[in-house]
Amino acid sequence: MGLTKKIVLAMIAGIAVGLISNLLNTSQVLGPGITGFINNYLTNGLFDIVGRIFIASLKLMVVPLVLVSLICGACALSEGSRVGVLAGKTLLLYLLTTAAAITLALVLALAIQPGVGMEHLAGDASFEPKASPSLSEVIVNIFPTNPVDAMAKGNMLQIIVFALLMGYAISRSGKPGQRIAGFFNDLNEVILRMVGVLMVFAPYGVFALLATKIAQLGFDAIPQLAKYFGVVLLALLLHALGVYPLLLKLLSGLSPLKLIKKMRPAMVFAFSTASSAATIPVTLQTVEKRLGVDNKVASFTVPLGATINMDGTAIMQGVATVFISQLYGIDIGLMGYLTVILTATLASIGTAGVPGVGLIMLAMVLQQVGLPLEGIAIVMGVDRLLDMVRTAVNITGDSVVSTIVAKSEGALNESTFNDDNYNSVVADGRDGTATS
Ligand code: ASP
Repeated sequence: MGLTKKIVLAMIAGIAVGLISNLLNTSQVLGPGITGFINNYLTNGLFDIVGRIFIASLKLMVVPLVLVSLICGACALSEGSRVGVLAGKTLLLYLLTTAAAITLALVLALAIQPGVGMEHLAGDASFEPKASPSLSEVIVNIFPTNPVDAMAKGNMLQIIVFALLMGYAISRSGKPGQRIAGFFNDLNEVILRMVGVLMVFAPYGVFALLATKIAQLGFDAIPQLAKYFGVVLLALLLHALGVYPLLLKLLSGLSPLKLIKKMRPAMVFAFSTASSAATIPVTLQTVEKRLGVDNKVASFTVPLGATINMDGTAIMQGVATVFISQLYGIDIGLMGYLTVILTATLASIGTAGVPGVGLIMLAMVLQQVGLPLEGIAIVMGVDRLLDMVRTAVNITGDSVVSTIVAKSEGALNESTFNDDNYNSVVADGRDGTATS
């Protein structure tokens, strides 16, 4: 069986086991003894340990992979002096897709009105917001003062700036530059091999993580917030299966179905980890090896996208804003909604793709339009599950933009994109070729 199939099966099995233990926990049909055993030794024991080791091993690869891969990519790019054009196109598309996502969410939420009739929820909610960074802080923070510190903290934007500068300098350094470029290209192969080795264990990791997380999820809040939950899901689906395919077809003429099919393993990773940042190794490999996007484009667009492009998150914020405004009976008007589009789009730049960060950004958005932050406490009850789904949408957006940009730059291998005989999730690193 190919690795992709195993990963998808592991996801289904993990969700099933998680749901069963959640049900056993809430119903207590097996009595406290057996339920306690399942909780202590399986869901919060074995599965939890395996899941946490799995996330750790993914995170382990993020910084070395992004740094080395982007140095190689920037090196190749600088030779053709395309860095500026590539960066401009990518940023523009990321901003546009996010703005489209939040607009879609606002329109759907205003049409379906998830908060009308639910005003009683507004009563006793309370919420302590975490401090969010100011815009000037966000911009200054993109530039590193110490590359080692940036890597230690996993600050993706700072690592990107450092790697771009280094790649550019290598390409302009003649013979010494060529020697260093050769070293980084070799190192890149070795790191890919490391990712390949870890991927063999991915199905177990996905299973364990989902079994634990789904078992711990509280589903009690969902019926009460069903309308909000449903509108967010609907908007996420429409964006992923409507807006992205349309964009891909219009701007590159490529088959959206192929892209969605090939991105499946990366989506499963995003769904189970709820973190675009931790999923970078898989997204990067999938985009390069399965979609045929050249490393010089993907090494820049994928880590950047995981950090600043969060369309799924923007959708949640759009629906949540309308929902909260309806709960509290506050009409923020057209200017309010335009402010939401702008703030949510900009807010996504300053926050990393990790679980739950969308709610911190939501605090920024609500503050900007003068809505009560207590509303966050209400939507928080169903946020984890939505977080998983929206993270899958977030990384799909990154891959769509990467493919469009690569096509327009002549950096897309279309025979790889169209090849149906793919099994690989990652390259095995031996000779740069993909295996299953
Ligand atoms: N978990 C999301 C991500 O990593 C961010 C969020 O919506 O909270 O992309």
